[in-house]
Amino acid sequence: MKWPGIIEAYREFLPVTDDTPIVTLEEGGTPLIRSPRLAAEIGADIDLYLKFEGANPTGSFKDRGMTLAISKAKEDGAKAVICASTGNTSASAAAYSAHAGMEAYVLIPEGKITLGKLSQAMIHKATILQIDGNFDEALCLVKEIAENYPVTLVNSLNPYRLQGQKTGAFEVCDQLDYAPDHHFLPVGNAGNITAYWMGYKDYYNAGKIDSLPKMIGFQAAGAAPIVRGKIIKNPKTIATAIRIGNPASWKQAEAAAAESQGRIDMVTDDEIVTAYRMIAGLEGIYCEPASAAGVAGLIKLNKTGYFKSGDKVVCTLTGHGLKDADFSLTISEKPASISGSMDELVKALGF
Ligand SMILES: *Cc1c(COP(=O)(O)O)cnc(C)c1O
Repeated sequence: MKWPGIIEAYREFLPVTDDTPIVTLEEGGTPLIRSPRLAAEIGADIDLYLKFEGANPTGSFKDRGMTLAISKAKEDGAKAVICASTGNTSASAAAYSAHAGMEAYVLIPEGKITLGKLSQAMIHKATILQIDGNFDEALCLVKEIAENYPVTLVNSLNPYRLQGQKTGAFEVCDQLDYAPDHHFLPVGNAGNITAYWMGYKDYYNAGKIDSLPKMIGFQAAGAAPIVRGKIIKNPKTIATAIRIGNPASWKQAEAAAAESQGRIDMVTDDEIVTAYRMIAGLEGIYCEPASAAGVAGLIKLNKTGYFKSGDKVVCTLTGHGLKDADFSLTISEKPASISGSMDELVKALGF
C-alpha cells in the first residue's frame, strides 16, 4: 500500500476531523535501522536502532509536525504562516506552505543557518528575513507578530507541531512490535523529546505497548540551558539545529525525563563530531551534526556502565547530513588527485 503520510496513518491519535484538509508530502514512515556495528564499536551489548528522520520529505523530523500544523492552519482559513528557525523548521514550513498554496514568513539568525536549509526555504519561495540576533530572539519576535497580525505561528509552541511529531514514537513501536527500553535524542527547543514521550504514553494508554522507554535527551555543552538550569544568552555549538539558549518546551522536556526515569544531559562538540563520524562510517547513515547528539550521549552513558545486556535502544537521528555538507567536508580527508594512468591508479588503490 502507498504510504499516506502521518496524519492518515495515525488519524485516530491526532486532532483531525473529516473536514480537515490534509496537507501532506507523505512524511513519516522513516527507516528504523538496526546498527550492530556501531554498538560493537563502542562496546555496548545492546540492541541498537537508529530512527533516520533525514528520510523525511524536507530532510528532518520537522515535517511530522508541519503536516499537521499546516493542515490545521488551512482548516482555520489561514493564508500565511510564520516561524523562527535554526533552519529545518523554515525549510519544512516553506515546503508545506508551498504545497498548501499559503505564504510562509521565516525569521532566521543571520549567518547561523546552514546553506542547505537556507536554500530549501528560498526555493520554496518563503519570505525570509535574517535578523541580527539569535534563534531565541527571533522566536520572541514571531510570537508577538502572530498574536497581533493575521498569520499562524508554526513553531513548536503551536500545539499541532508536537501532536504530529509524536507519531515518531508510534512508528518506532510499530516497527519493533514493542517499546524500546531507552530512547535517545538531541534536545534544542525541547519539543521533540516532549512529543515522543506523548506518543509513547498515547500508545501505552491505547494498549499498543506494555512498557514505556526512558527518555534520554542530550544538549550541546555550549547550549545546555536545561542541564545548567539557566537561560544561556549566547549559545554556542557546531550543531546549529540545537543552538538554543531558552527552549520553548523546557518544562515539558524535564517532565518527560523525570516521569520516564530518564534524564537530560549534555555532550561536547567533540563528542558530537565523534558520534557523527561513527554513524556515517560504521552504519552508512548521513545525519547532520545536531542529530548525532543523542548517539554521542549514548556513547557517554555506555562508558559509565549504564546499559543492561540486551537493552533495546533507539536513537532518533533528526535530520539529513546533506543539509550541512559544508561541515562534513571540513572534517573529512580530501580526495587524492592522480593522473589518469593505470599504474598510478593501482598504486593509489594499494593493490
Ligand atoms: C529541530 C531540530 C532538533 C531539535 O529538536 P527540538 O524539538 O527543538 O528539541 C534537533 N535536530 C535537528 C536536525 C532539528 O532540526
